[in-house]
Amino acid sequence: MCVVCRNRFPKTELLRFIFDSERGQVADPRQRLPGRGCYVCKTESCLDKLTSTRIRRKRCKGEMHGQ
Ligand SMILES: [Zn+2]
Repeated sequence: MCVVCRNRFPKTELLRFIFDSERGQVADPRQRLPGRGCYVCKTESCLDKLTSTRIRRKRCKGEMHGQ
């Protein structure tokens, strides 16, 4: 599910990001990085909104166990 628009997409249509305290937003194309991961669809507006701190705090928390 996209964390921004909350629509469901097949995994191939989603990009994974993690949020690192030092590096900030990091793309995770291999889906192997530890940390708070978020999935977002490839819509431009969703990718833009992913930089919103509010969305990160609310929706990326606690997804590190593979949801
Ligand atoms: Zn989206």
